[in-house]
Amino acid sequence: MTAFIEAASPHVMNTYGRLPIALSHGQGCRVWDVNGKEYLDALAGIAVNTLGHNHPKLVPALQEQLGKLIHTSNYYHVPLQEALAARLTAHAHMSNVFFCNSGLEANEAALKIARKFGHDKGIERPEIVVYEKAFHGRSIATLSATGNPKVQAGFGPLVEGFIRVPLNDIAALERATAGNPNVVAVFLETIQGEGGIHPMRIEYLQQVRRLCDARDWLLMTDEVQCGMGRTGKWFAHQWAGIVPDVMPLAKGLGSGVPVGAVVAGPRAANVLQPGNHGSTFGGNPLAMRAGLETLRIMEEDGLLENAARVGAHLKAGLERALGGLPGVKEVRGQGLMLGVELAKPCGALLQRAADAGLLISVTAESVIRIVPPLILTAAEADDIVARLAPLVQAFLAE
Ligand SMILES: *Cc1c(COP(=O)(O)O)cnc(C)c1O
Repeated sequence: MTAFIEAASPHVMNTYGRLPIALSHGQGCRVWDVNGKEYLDALAGIAVNTLGHNHPKLVPALQEQLGKLIHTSNYYHVPLQEALAARLTAHAHMSNVFFCNSGLEANEAALKIARKFGHDKGIERPEIVVYEKAFHGRSIATLSATGNPKVQAGFGPLVEGFIRVPLNDIAALERATAGNPNVVAVFLETIQGEGGIHPMRIEYLQQVRRLCDARDWLLMTDEVQCGMGRTGKWFAHQWAGIVPDVMPLAKGLGSGVPVGAVVAGPRAANVLQPGNHGSTFGGNPLAMRAGLETLRIMEEDGLLENAARVGAHLKAGLERALGGLPGVKEVRGQGLMLGVELAKPCGALLQRAADAGLLISVTAESVIRIVPPLILTAAEADDIVARLAPLVQAFLAE
C-alpha cells in the first residue's frame, strides 16, 4: 500500500504539491485513506463538501438522478436549472442565474458581464477594479484578476483592463478610479480565501455599494469560497446588508459535484443575450440536482445556523488554545471559514496535521485554513482544536 502511495501519479500532469496520501472513502466529517488511517476532515475538499461525505439524504437523491438523466444540452430547457435558479435568487434577493462548472468559469462569466455592461453603455475599453491578494481562478482572465504574482508568473501577457486596489480602503478606491470614465465594476471576494482569509469589513462593503450606485458600476462579489452558507448566512456579503449586482458561486454549491453559477441582479441580469455566452456541461441535470439537494438539506437541517454556531465555538476554541501565543498573529474569519495566521511560513504543518489525523490547508504561506463541512458538530470542532493546537505550539517552539 505504501508502495502505491510512493509511486504517486506518474501519468498525471504534475501541477500540484501533493501529500503522499490517497483517500478511499468518507462518512460525515471523517475520511479514510487507502491504508485505513482515519482523518478528521477540516478542509472539505477546499470548502466544497458542504454536506461532508456519504450524506444519507444526498447520495440516494443523486443515485436516483443518475438513473434518470445525467446530461442533456442547453439546446433544450432543463427544468432543474429553473428550480435551482429560483432557490438561489430567492436566497440572494437577485434575479437570474447562469450555470457553469467551476469557480473560474463563474468569474469568467462575471468579467464578461462587466465588460459587456460597459460596451452597452458605449465604453469601449472597460476597466474592472480588483484587489491585492485576490484569487479568482487560473484561466488567463481570472489569473489576471488575481492579485498573486505566483499565480501569474509564466503566463503573460496578462489580460488588461484591471485596476488593483488595497482591501478595506475606500479612499484608495476613490483615488484609483478618480476621473476614469472606463470603470465598469468592482470585483471583490467578500472574504478572501486563497489570499489568507481576509474579510472585507462591513462598513467598507457598504461604502463600495454606495460608490457603485453613485457611479453606475456593477458590484461583483466572488462568493465562490465564502458563499453557500459557510459564514452562517447564505452569502457572506449579507452580513453587511447589501445586495451585489453579480455573484459568482461554485465550490460548496454541489457538495462535491462540480457546479458553478453566476447570480445576477436586475442591472446585470439581461446583459448577456443569446449567443454571448455558453457552456456544454453548464447546468446539466446531475449538477443541478446536486445543487438543489444541497440547498434543500441545508434548509431542512439548519446548516446555516450550525455553521454560525459551531464556527463561533471553533473560533473561540482556537483563540483559547492559540490566541496570544508568540508567533500567532491572528485568528480570523467567520462561521466555518477560519484562518490562523502565524508569523512564519507553515506549509510543514500539512503533513504533521495529517499524521495526527487532521486534514487542513495552509494558504498564503503562513495562514492555517479551516473550512470543514457545514455539518461539523461542536465535538468535532473541539477535536480539530485538540489535534491542531499542540502541533502549532510545537512548530512555533522550533
Ligand atoms: C477556488 C476559488 C476560485 C476558483 O475556483 P475553481 O473552481 O478552482 O476554478 C475562484 N474564486 C475564489 C474566491 C475561490 O476561492
